[in-house]
Amino acid sequence: MQKPSVAILGLGIMGSGMARRLLSANFPLTVYNRNREKSLPLAADGAFVADTPREAASRAQIILSMVAEDSASRSVWLGEAGALAGASPGSILIESSTLTVGWIQELAAKAAERGCRFMDAPVTGSKPQAASGELLFLVGGVADVIDAARPVFSVLGRDVIHMGPVGSGALMKLVNNFMCGVQAASFAEGLSLIDAAGLNRAKAIAILTGGAPGSAIVRRMAERVAADDFTPAFALRWMAKDIGYALDGASGKGVSLPVASAALAVFRRAIAEGLGDQDFSAVTKRQHDE
Ligand code: NAP
Repeated sequence: MQKPSVAILGLGIMGSGMARRLLSANFPLTVYNRNREKSLPLAADGAFVADTPREAASRAQIILSMVAEDSASRSVWLGEAGALAGASPGSILIESSTLTVGWIQELAAKAAERGCRFMDAPVTGSKPQAASGELLFLVGGVADVIDAARPVFSVLGRDVIHMGPVGSGALMKLVNNFMCGVQAASFAEGLSLIDAAGLNRAKAIAILTGGAPGSAIVRRMAERVAADDFTPAFALRWMAKDIGYALDGASGKGVSLPVASAALAVFRRAIAEGLGDQDFSAVTKRQHDE
């Protein structure tokens, strides 16, 4: 069966891994990235490099965006040079970035005006899973559109979970990430107390990771702390973004998330201390309490 043509918009940590997977599965691939430099290694492996999201979209049946946050998504989809202007009616648009539910719904309406089929499909998994095709897609949309995109999902992911209508994938992802952020912030606070009290750090971390608090996220952070390696797989500033988006989404539904608010304050202090571009596990390096 002939593979659908695909465009990937955004070649950051996640988008570049996803693009590479599609290339190695021989999909006809067009890529776009704001900073063109990041496209060049993919061009060397056979991707067509578009000058604008519009050009990328005009070459593809399936268009997937993987950019930083709402404003980045707006800038790749909208406007004269945006992907919506180039997308053919009937093409499938997949927004895989972690974004607000409000923007996803606005984008879905614009896609429908254009006659395109749209779904939100944010992912769990990080840099290694993007590179190995083991992401988990949390999808909001209609079943036949999701089915039409399965050839792409099957190369990029280990599973696709249909959460409900447009926006429900985005909301699920925000719940997932604010809960990760809360655990990360509490591990950072635990380490602060351990250090301040002069407890043996290595023993303390082994107790935490081997016991009930040792969730997947805490264990992952403990490995980074032990290796003193904070090279970003998931940037600290994007964890803060996701907690903030979860708080927005919750307040829109009349739900307050005081624990998420407290975690966001911890991450904001870390950003103020210059740690925003490091891996989120660098929240454990925060030096100064208020
Ligand atoms: P990243 O490495 O920081 O890449 C961000 C991408 O967004 C880059 O391609 C960047 O382009 C682009 N971008 C930023 N601002 C833009 C703008 N105003 N206009 C156009 N493009 C813009 O981030 P990432 O880790 O790949 O994350 C991408 C998305 O996936 C985020 O929504 C994140 O929350 C989500 N996510 C990440 C992970 C993870 O573990 N990393 C896991 C699940 C979900 P430039 O190269 O030009 O800056």
